[in-house]
Amino acid sequence: MDYCSTRDSEKSVTAAEAILQGISEEGGLIVPTKLPAISSQELLQFANLNYIQRAHRILSLFLTDFTDEELNSCILQAYSNSFEGNMPAPLTSLSDGRYLLELWHGPTAAFKDLALQLLPHLLTTSSKKIHSNSNIVILTATSGDTGKAALSGFAKIPGIELFVFYPEGGVSEIQRKQMVTQPGENVHVTAVNGNFDQAQTAVKQLFTDWKVRRTLKETGFVFSSANSINLGRLLPQIVYYFSAYSDLLAADEITLGEPIHVTVPTGNFGNILAAYYAKQMGLPIQRLICASNVNHILTDFIKTGVYDRNRPFYRSSSPSMDILVSSNLERFLYHLEEDPEEITDFYQKFAETGRFLLPQRLVNKMSDIFFAGYCNEEETSAAIQNLFQTTGYLCDPHTAVALSVEEQYRTQIGDKTKNIIVSTASPFKFPATVLSDLGMERPNNEFEAIKQLSTISGTIPPPSILALQHLPERFLDVIPISEMEQYLFQELKI
Ligand SMILES: *Cc1c(COP(=O)(O)O)cnc(C)c1O
Repeated sequence: MDYCSTRDSEKSVTAAEAILQGISEEGGLIVPTKLPAISSQELLQFANLNYIQRAHRILSLFLTDFTDEELNSCILQAYSNSFEGNMPAPLTSLSDGRYLLELWHGPTAAFKDLALQLLPHLLTTSSKKIHSNSNIVILTATSGDTGKAALSGFAKIPGIELFVFYPEGGVSEIQRKQMVTQPGENVHVTAVNGNFDQAQTAVKQLFTDWKVRRTLKETGFVFSSANSINLGRLLPQIVYYFSAYSDLLAADEITLGEPIHVTVPTGNFGNILAAYYAKQMGLPIQRLICASNVNHILTDFIKTGVYDRNRPFYRSSSPSMDILVSSNLERFLYHLEEDPEEITDFYQKFAETGRFLLPQRLVNKMSDIFFAGYCNEEETSAAIQNLFQTTGYLCDPHTAVALSVEEQYRTQIGDKTKNIIVSTASPFKFPATVLSDLGMERPNNEFEAIKQLSTISGTIPPPSILALQHLPERFLDVIPISEMEQYLFQELKI
């Protein structure tokens, strides 16, 4: 399997090289040149396999430069002990042919665990394969979920140092606690004085600063990336779409070949891109429903072909989807025509003006594949409340956005095709918000909110979240954005 850059299709790299580099040198993203296929016969056989076996089969098609033993060892370390009941991606059936794909049974209670429990092992294996002796330095700016999922995956992995920068006052109390209580000598967490965009920009500057890179190189370090521009984050996400379809087959909920829809609450476009890959590989997905919150730049883009970031940015109750630049969209646009010059052109315009325009033929292609919709804050609350009142099931605000948009789709299109709705976080990660959406008074303390939420729903909070209350806080630094470089060198002792 070959990989190339979205902005230079001549450039060919192996999976191991792609995973280690994170991003391509000329600014593009790394994509597979050709997607492998899974036959319907094989899909049928999947029904008898467990998640680990399914992951092995799918990933072996992409990581062709990994040996069977290498891949096996990575997958076992990621999925054999870290997920509740050893079920990383279980389905819950709702009424009307809707199923929730619960991707929050991992150590940090959000879907990013599915990729970030595996990525560290893919990275260290890739590094060994390329005979790199360097230690890997990962820099992450986070608005909440990515930071903890990366910490949990990378802590105590030899040969990797992880840095997490979060905006002071910009993450929820649970998210902050999750990060500052993380054990492990190879993890470094600090708050920065600034917002998420400033932290993210500073991380990108450090990442591309040749002087910083040279200093690192001279002292035996090399940068890589843990966010969803890394191919190693994208590939593990393809697995759960195949797994969900096989589970429905095994439960006789669908017949082999029956088309389904998939609804994804979307931010950086990584999760829904993985669903698109699954579709292109032969999984019978008919429509991809792209659900956005009040920051609905993707809805507008899919409907009109105009991507325009010159608009207000809102803080919503689904913060992991508060994004104006969806990085992985570039990969999807590349696959439409595989024309790197066109992509370079779009993104050059975007860098200059914050806006680019898709030709009508591409808008048409896109609307054959996607339905896009968004919901506002009231509709998000209403979706949480409705689901709880009619079924007793508690969902988090990100999942609620997906439910609300799926409902719009069914009402508008009148389509009864079965639908897998991706549930991306545990409601106990956003307890005060969920509680107030249910019409209860919002307590000051998030742990009090967890207790109340548990009582009214009769569900047990994830033990990892309950335990946070009593863990010591290890990381108390708050630094100015301008001192991030100094902090990096100081922590690496160089
Ligand atoms: C990251 C995240 C999303 C958005 O996923 P993308 O792959 O960025 O589109 C949605 N929900 C939750 C809870 C997340 O953490």
